[in-house]
Amino acid sequence: MPETPEPTEATYRGRFAPSPTGPLHFGSLIAAVGSYLDARCRGGEWLVRVEDVDEPRNVPGADRQILDALRRFGMEWDQPVIYQSQRIHRYRSALDSLSDAGWIYPCACSRKEIGGPVYPGTCRPGLAAGKSPRSLRMRTDEQPIGFRDAIQGPFAQNLEKDVGDFVVRRADGLFAYQLAVVVDDTDQAVTSVVRGSDLLDSTPRQIHLQRALNLATPDYLHLPVATDPGGCKLSKQSGAAPVDVAHPGPALNRALTFLAHPPPEELASAPVSELWDWAIEHWQRRRIPRQLTIAV
Ligand code: GLU
Repeated sequence: MPETPEPTEATYRGRFAPSPTGPLHFGSLIAAVGSYLDARCRGGEWLVRVEDVDEPRNVPGADRQILDALRRFGMEWDQPVIYQSQRIHRYRSALDSLSDAGWIYPCACSRKEIGGPVYPGTCRPGLAAGKSPRSLRMRTDEQPIGFRDAIQGPFAQNLEKDVGDFVVRRADGLFAYQLAVVVDDTDQAVTSVVRGSDLLDSTPRQIHLQRALNLATPDYLHLPVATDPGGCKLSKQSGAAPVDVAHPGPALNRALTFLAHPPPEELASAPVSELWDWAIEHWQRRRIPRQLTIAV
């Protein structure tokens, strides 16, 4: 599997891409801190993008709450924040290119008809008589798509077998995350995607789209995601509380400790600017563990 060369300091551009589905919680703070440090320790740029393409999941005001929390943590972005909801024309144009190249077909299946996690390709040969199109799907094939993650190591999927042809425009007319993220990372010239390992298995779909659209593939680093002892991801549903923005120091300390960069004792009650100085100086990708279990 070819290794993606590590981006040089002069070109590094990272990003944090929260969905405005609620306030920043500890899990999203980890992704923000990891992507920020990985950019800053190389003298790179760091951008923020609000991933509000999945309209029904948006919580009004959550975007401002998240941006305000990042500011209170002392995290500064290098370009104006972009919102996916303002970029629908870009997703439409990518979809048109894919469609022109024969990658896309209409699908009439409901979730119930599919009945499982892998789409069996029912509508691939064409819609059955009397069926109306609901979503649009991207063709996959059995060619394995692999990449080397900076922490998780080599990862590959046979998309046809593991995922099936996947939705790029949903039955409700909204563009799917997989397409939006690929278009956005390219338009923002992102060189390094640092995010939670819950998105590891989305990456081959994103690489498949990049190849079909003739776009460059960034370097990927999937951070460990905190799980409970049963292996379940900590999330708002499992009781992950919003981070306390009134006292960012302790939460930043905990996030750094989670990422195996525990600040020294004497910084325990230091202002966040001092924690950042220390963390930027000490950040090393190879210290980060692949996965972590924490008691809840
Ligand atoms: N918007 C996604 C989330 O909040 C992150 C997507 C990404 O980083 O690619 O989980």
